[in-house]
Amino acid sequence: MSDWDAVVVGAGHNGLVAASYLARAGARVVVLERRPVVGGAAVTEETWPGFHLSTYSYVAGLLRPTIVDELGLRAHGYRTILYDPQYCMPFPDGRMLKLWVDTDRSVREIARFSERDARAYPKYVAYWERVLDLIDPVLLAAPAPLSELFQLFSSPEAETLVRDLFLRSARDLLDDWFESEELKAALAPNAVIGTMCGPDTPGTAYVLAHHSIGVLDGHRQVWGFSVGGMGGISRALASAARGYGAEVRTGVGVRRILVAGGRAVGVETDSGDTIRARVVASNADAQHTFLGLTPPDALPSEFRRAVERIRSRGAALKLNAALSRLPEFPSDPGAPADVHRSTVDLAPSLDYLERAYRDAREGRFSSHPFVELLFQSSLDPSVAPPGKHTMTAFVQYAPGQPNGSDWDSYRDRAAETVLDTVAEYAPDVRRAVEHWQVKTPVDLERELGLTGGSIFHGDITPDQILSFRPVPGWARYRTPVPGLYLCGSAAHPGGGVTGAPGHNAAQAILEDWRSDGSPPSGAGG
Ligand SMILES: Cc1cc2nc3c(=O)[nH]c(=O)nc-3n(C[C@H](O)[C@H](O)[C@H](O)COP(=O)(O)OP(=O)(O)OC[C@H]3O[C@@H](n4cnc5c(N)ncnc54)[C@H](O)[C@@H]3O)c2cc1C
Repeated sequence: MSDWDAVVVGAGHNGLVAASYLARAGARVVVLERRPVVGGAAVTEETWPGFHLSTYSYVAGLLRPTIVDELGLRAHGYRTILYDPQYCMPFPDGRMLKLWVDTDRSVREIARFSERDARAYPKYVAYWERVLDLIDPVLLAAPAPLSELFQLFSSPEAETLVRDLFLRSARDLLDDWFESEELKAALAPNAVIGTMCGPDTPGTAYVLAHHSIGVLDGHRQVWGFSVGGMGGISRALASAARGYGAEVRTGVGVRRILVAGGRAVGVETDSGDTIRARVVASNADAQHTFLGLTPPDALPSEFRRAVERIRSRGAALKLNAALSRLPEFPSDPGAPADVHRSTVDLAPSLDYLERAYRDAREGRFSSHPFVELLFQSSLDPSVAPPGKHTMTAFVQYAPGQPNGSDWDSYRDRAAETVLDTVAEYAPDVRRAVEHWQVKTPVDLERELGLTGGSIFHGDITPDQILSFRPVPGWARYRTPVPGLYLCGSAAHPGGGVTGAPGHNAAQAILEDWRSDGSPPSGAGG
């Protein structure tokens, strides 16, 4: 008999979600995490004394409410803060566009830029509501083949939705709706986050949809903070998993997935220990799981080739900073002001965003990158010492080899460019910065095991989502090795702190146990 029903490789938030559901069903589960902390890309680290930063991911909202409720995460300390305004977009001419949770308030704001767009905006919000009605049920289920899915879209209006979502660029979609460059610029960043694509790239309208699934405090299409940083989500999940009886071990890397008689039967740790289990669920990305951990002869060669071809391009870097005070934005005077309690996007036009992308395609870190700023400490004082503040800057685009150099050599230059870009809108930012660190795509790969530095375990473009994720033919969490499952973002519905891949993978494992008549050992036979 195996020591465990399930061993989960990696305590990213998805590994913890999978472990929680399996343990809740009565399975004996052990989670092995290589890093000293749980959470993977959803962690909080005390980067400098008293400064608790969301080192990698930084905004909450995507975690599916069903998971929060079913796992009772609030009882384990899960807390969020919905911020408002949702977006502040400063422009070089000194104006700022703010988008609020309340649509009517946004409409009044947009009217300062275009009366026509102010009239169109509520219809645009309603359009996304309809899209989300279609997407929501698909998120917490194994992906149906595209042909089946498209039958859901049977009316002429739905046909347009398919075209919009899967085939169009963000620019084409936004051009249909709006005339104001400023409003389009404010709505476009979500179409390229984490993706080596510009707003002109076909398929980016889907990326926009992916980033619209946020739900907080009963509001849809919103973002917020996890209190104490993103690690708050992972800590709550680890506590829930332990509460259901799972064992979560940190500082334990997995070196190899063990396969015997054609089945996954456990893992070997970096220190050479063998842990036997009836199933192995890997939270690592597809390349690391199949090309790094699984014995090559256990996988069909065409499957390995398909995994090799998954597009996993690092697009982003992150600058985290400790501040002595909040920097002032002349376009929204005062500190704190609305701008400090919001997502602040620095990319004043679609052309600007596209240029930053094209620079990266030509191997340059743009002199004018897209920067997304958050000052979590202004709403959540627990993350900084009294009177001090945090700033996180998510930055695109990070080319593979910046300016003919490598990321370890280029790190400081990139930080200077980011701070120069912020200073164009908040001139005193440099005087406020006490410390900074940069996480380059190479750091993301080294520290988190994200192949290529891809923040989503592979691009979430239409050719790599739904039944194509991680590779066509293997989208339902199962793999060519019976007993080996994928439970992280490399599987449907992809990246972001949604918990959905972990939830769906656990359901697949439980389903297989039910169908072969072997329930988890603690489930009472
Ligand atoms: C810089 C950055 C910014 C982002 N911003 C946001 C954001 O603001 N909001 C949002 O919702 N999403 C954001 N994302 C995306 C989101 O964080 C990820 O998609 C999500 O956290 C991935 O979760 P996961 O559990 O699938 O995988 P991961 O978080 O990648 O976890 C995998 C875990 O497996 C462990 N592991 C790997 N190999 C082994 C091994 N051999 N042995 C043991 N352990 C192993 C890793 O250490 C890691 O802990 C961001 C990501 C990054 C990198």
